[in-house]
Amino acid sequence: MTTPISTKTDPTVCERCAQKYHTCCHAEPQDVELCFPLSDSEWEKVKAAVPDMDGENFVANTPEFIKTLKRLFPHDGKKIDAQFPANETHRVLRSNEKGYCVYLTEQGCMLPREARPWFCLLFPFWVRGKELTMFTAQGCLVCRETDTVEDSLELLGMDKSQVRELFALLRSAWGFDKDE
Ligand code: SF4
Ligand code: SF4
Repeated sequence: MTTPISTKTDPTVCERCAQKYHTCCHAEPQDVELCFPLSDSEWEKVKAAVPDMDGENFVANTPEFIKTLKRLFPHDGKKIDAQFPANETHRVLRSNEKGYCVYLTEQGCMLPREARPWFCLLFPFWVRGKELTMFTAQGCLVCRETDTVEDSLELLGMDKSQVRELFALLRSAWGFDKDE
């Protein structure tokens, strides 16, 4: 168990995380199928920012992937089925041979903030109905150093309205807000 040590804003928390853990810019090969999908609009922003990078990859819409999405968006089952048909693929950020996102450098993400995918800006937060929640990621220093969503927000220098706005943008990028 880790002792919470900080509830003050620390702009270096992700840098400190990178010294200890793989961070949220990394996925083990067996977990790539569960990585967040990258919508067309997000990919356009990424590509425009770094045109020379081969940064996209396509992975299968496996049953586990669909199940996970439906858990994350419990009211959007039909839209998920329409967007991610079984036996087809979806786009994700490409990883290098060590499992790190190809946009990661020793100085952090090479993408300007406005070009990063919404889930990169949102993590480790999530929204469930009216409730603002967090993923419980062992390899996330924000999760390890705080006990409550409020403390995590403070550590990252974010507020609830920013998280809700990012979540709304993510949903909108996937067309989850449109009427069926
Ligand atoms: S785009 Fe940037 S923030 Fe997102 S996973 Fe890649 S390196 Fe990390
Ligand atoms: S958000 Fe969490 S997992 Fe990602 S780099 Fe920051 S502390 Fe690490």
